[in-house]
Parts: sequence; structure tokens; C-alpha cells
Amino acid sequence: MSRTRRDPRTERAAHRVEGATRPRFDLASTPVTSTRLRRDPRAKERLALVSGTQRRRLDRTQRVAAALATPRPAEPVVEAGPRLKIIAEPAFLVAVVPDAPGGRLTPHDRQLFGAARLLADAGGGAVLALVETPPDDLAMAGADRVLSLPITGYDPEAKTAAVGAVLEELDIRHALFPESADGGDLARRVAALTGETLFAGAETLSPKAVTRAAQGRRVEQRRAPPRLISLAADAVAPHAGTLHEALPVAFAVPAQVQGAILSAEFVPADPSSVSLAEADFVTSAGNGISDFEAFRALVAALHATPGASRMVCDAGLMPRAAQVGASGTVLDAKCYFALGIAGAPQHLQGVARCEHVVAVNTDLHAAMIERAGLAIVADAQQVMPALLKLLAEESAP
Ligand SMILES: Cc1cc2nc3c(=O)[nH]c(=O)nc-3n(C[C@H](O)[C@H](O)[C@H](O)COP(=O)(O)OP(=O)(O)OC[C@H]3O[C@@H](n4cnc5c(N)ncnc54)[C@H](O)[C@@H]3O)c2cc1C
Repeated sequence: MSRTRRDPRTERAAHRVEGATRPRFDLASTPVTSTRLRRDPRAKERLALVSGTQRRRLDRTQRVAAALATPRPAEPVVEAGPRLKIIAEPAFLVAVVPDAPGGRLTPHDRQLFGAARLLADAGGGAVLALVETPPDDLAMAGADRVLSLPITGYDPEAKTAAVGAVLEELDIRHALFPESADGGDLARRVAALTGETLFAGAETLSPKAVTRAAQGRRVEQRRAPPRLISLAADAVAPHAGTLHEALPVAFAVPAQVQGAILSAEFVPADPSSVSLAEADFVTSAGNGISDFEAFRALVAALHATPGASRMVCDAGLMPRAAQVGASGTVLDAKCYFALGIAGAPQHLQGVARCEHVVAVNTDLHAAMIERAGLAIVADAQQVMPALLKLLAEESAP
């Protein structure tokens, strides 16, 4: 069935009274019907079928329906790991001499690798790590090659000679040292040995320039990156993302002449009296601690340096020298153990550089719990004796 469609414009024009000053409509006049045919969707549907059948001429829906009906084999889930970047034939090498105390990279060491990657990636070079005991995470840190230096114990003279030999024999375009107590000392020794200029304490670094402040920070010194650079802490971001090969490199370091130092050993400091800024492991008490006897016993059993939040120091429960935070001491510890501390911004500033944070708090939503790598949501007064018991069991013969 087909009906002619109404055309409202034509109908309105038919009712219009001609000659009037404003439009007037004569509703008694005969309506004019439109000449346009009305769309008939059912007829269109019939035309789309193969005549005499219910099959569509062009049926995309059937294919989609069939595809949906057949179950697809489940695709294997591939774990997305970090991409591995291989630099088979590097144009040059950028050597990194990290501190890596005890065979572990410090945050400053990681920044050094980040800086080395900037210099190497700009010209198809590779990063070579010069280490005594290779840390496990050199590939993650961004090292393409690893050269083990045959140094035992604290022997800066032998290390200087070994690094000097590597710089002489291999195609090293840049050598980066951390501007730390040991790294800065080694960089200056290597500069004296090789007779090259050291750009010490670089504060910014790019493939084109290195800069540092001078004359009481009134001027900025800038130059093209030289061969020997020591980098200030927090100057460059550590490398992140791609994994690198960390391939061991064979290199015969020449036998060293006997140095002036006959014997050198690390004498462990008493953790209870070492300054907070130099402590490796700090255990702190906050306002959530009421049993200070158990706290002191735990600090001694863990061989940790005692710390506290400002609340505790203000209350006179711990000395002011033990205050951790923006207005106390900023830590550089490997591990920070926070007991009953909320994690106010001023306190968190003091633990920003700590590698590992462990927190005990009754409040799951405390900022300290969020900052911690390992959190115990429990009453610290119960956790402390439980830990003491475990430590006593472990140390028992
Ligand atoms: C200018 C300025 C500078 C400051 N500088 C510092 C600074 O350098 N260092 C610093 O620490 N603070 C500083 N503060 C203070 C800071 O803002 C906080 O007030 C302070 O850190 C809070 O200490 P707290 O976490 O121990 O105490 P609270 O804020 O009282 O938190 C106690 C925490 O313990 C938990 N708790 C309670 N009972 C238990 C239990 N039984 N077991 C386990 N957990 C429990 C609670 O859930 C809570 O999270 C500064 C403040 C100002 C304004």
C-alpha cells in the first residue's frame, strides 16, 4: 500500500490569503495534497530479498551472526615484559663507574646510567659498566656491557689504575662518575692519572652540553661534554623502559703495582650512635607508639638507628636529633621502618631518598602505608613484641 505524503508547506501556501499586509490563513479552502510519494519501508524490505525466498540479496548480518555463533579459539595471553635493546656494534662506549656499595646500585648510580644512556643513544654508542661485583639489575639500569674490575676491598689506587687502563685501551668517549665521597675521589684520581680535565659536579647533562654552578652559584659554567665527568646527585633521571643486554666483556686489567695502602677494612659503626643522615637502616617511632621500652628493645635487636616523628620529639619522648623530616634530618638510608607514623608531607620529605620503606599503622589509608613497599596494618604495640620474639628465635643458637 502506498499513500501520498502530506506536504505542510504546500498546504500552508494554499490557505494563504493573497494581498493581506500580514500572512492570513483561510482554513475553509480545500487542502492541496503533496505529489511526493511516501516511503514504504516494507516494500523496500521485500525488494532486498531474492524473489520467492526469504534470503537477502546482500546479507552482511548473516556473516556477522555466523562469526559470532562460532567460538573463536582463545588467544594465548602474552605477558608484556620490558623490551630488550641490543646494540651489537656500538660506535663508541660510555663508561659508568658506579659506587655500587656491597654490589648494589644506589639511586645516584642509576641516575649515572640514565646520563650515560643520554650520551650513548645520541650517537649509536653503548654503555659500559665498570664494577667490582656486578649488581643483578645492571640490564634494567641501562648497561649494554659489563666489565668486572679485579679489585678486592678498599683500594682506590688499584681501582684508579684499573679504570685508567680501561680508558686507555677501549674506545671510551665519556666516563661518568658519581659526585659522591668515593666516586668523586676516584674521578679526581683518574683525572690526575690520565692528565685529562674532569668536569666535576655536573648539574645538567645532554649530548651537547654539561653545566654546573660556580662562584657561589652566581655563574653557570657550560661546555661540550668532556671525557671525564662526575655527576651531582638528582641531576639526571634514571634510565627507565627498555632492558639492555649487560653482556660481560673480557678485558685483561694489568697487574697492579703495590699501592701505599697496606690494609684497609670497613669498620662497622655503632648504629645507635651514628648520625641519622649517614644511617643505613632507621627505625622510627610516631604518635602511634605508646610502649617506648619495646621500641628501644626493637631498635637494638634490629641493629637500627633510632628516629622519630616531630610529634614524638615535641612530646620529649625522643631527642630532637632523632627527628626525621623536613625540619629534622633528611635520610639517605637503604631501609626505613616507620612505626605508628601517619606520613605527613613534612615527614615524608625526610624519607624521600630511602630505598625501602616498611610501615606499621592501624590506619590502612595512612600516607605512610601508601609510601611503604611493605605495610603491616596492625597495632604497633602488638607487632613490636612479635618481632622481638622472632628475632630472639632467629639469633638463638
Ligand atoms: C613547618 C612544619 C614542619 C614540620 N616538620 C616535621 C618534620 O620534620 N618531621 C615530622 O615528623 N613532622 C613534622 N611536622 C609535623 C607533621 O606535620 C605531623 O604533625 C607529624 O609528622 C605527625 O607525627 P605522627 O605521624 O607521629 O603523628 P600523628 O599524625 O598523630 O599520626 C599517628 C599515626 O599513628 C597511627 N596509630 C595510632 N595508633 C596506632 C597503633 N596503636 N599502632 C600503629 N599505628 C597507630 C595513626 O593511625 C596515625 O597514622 C612539621 C609540621 C610543620 C607545620
